Amino acid sequence: MKVARFSIDGADPRYGILDGDDFVVLSGDPMFSGFGTTGQRVAASDVKLLAPVIPRSKVVCIGLNYAAHRDELKNELASPTAPLIFLKPNTAVVGPGDTIQIPPVEGRIVHEGELVIVIGKIAKRVKAADYADVVFGYTIGNDVSARDQMFADGQWARAKGYDTFAPLGPVIETELDWSNLEIQTYVDGEPRRSGNTRDMLHTVPEIIEYVSDVFTLLPGDVIMTGTPAGLGGFLDGQTIDITIEGIGTLSNPAKNRV
Ligand code: MG
Repeated sequence: MKVARFSIDGADPRYGILDGDDFVVLSGDPMFSGFGTTGQRVAASDVKLLAPVIPRSKVVCIGLNYAAHRDELKNELASPTAPLIFLKPNTAVVGPGDTIQIPPVEGRIVHEGELVIVIGKIAKRVKAADYADVVFGYTIGNDVSARDQMFADGQWARAKGYDTFAPLGPVIETELDWSNLEIQTYVDGEPRRSGNTRDMLHTVPEIIEYVSDVFTLLPGDVIMTGTPAGLGGFLDGQTIDITIEGIGTLSNPAKNRV
């Protein structure tokens, strides 16, 4: 099922399950309190979608997880054999339709459309074979990056951590086979990046085993699983759309920060 977080008439965020053209409104946060319903239905066209989750503790990201993307950066970065982990602060998260604010920095701002794992249970040293026990579902993320700052700084906290650099959404799909999904990224409708999750170097079960050996993952934490190939940036006034089959399209306009 597709789970969304939204606001009705500017009220506090609620969760709902998509049912046809409506959301069935849930009584709490399904990552913490299950799928109890309020009995209320609301037309999907009448809500403002929000980021489907605000991670309680962290946005974990996997770098260089597609061979073709690793190869296009091979002159600038070493190629690790184990998953490369980095973090974004949860303050970088924004929702569908929210503006990506481009900071006044030198160099390229690039999009990275990625499959995102949403964690549903406390996860500590989870074996790959047991990965499904701790997954709530999957959404779409844009691992926005100030590409030239990555190289200038030698680490990625600044380049990846600006406010608005982690759009998530539009929904969390709780029943999805992650292993063969097309990921496509467009800027103003022009195709930029495309790939398929079957080409991940480290699979979802392997990522969960590796990451949960390092950090305890909490319900609502997310893991961005890496971008396919196709370098490209975006500029003030452009719109970035990322489509993953089975989930939907995450769309965000970009504007220079004022
Ligand atoms: Mg990335």
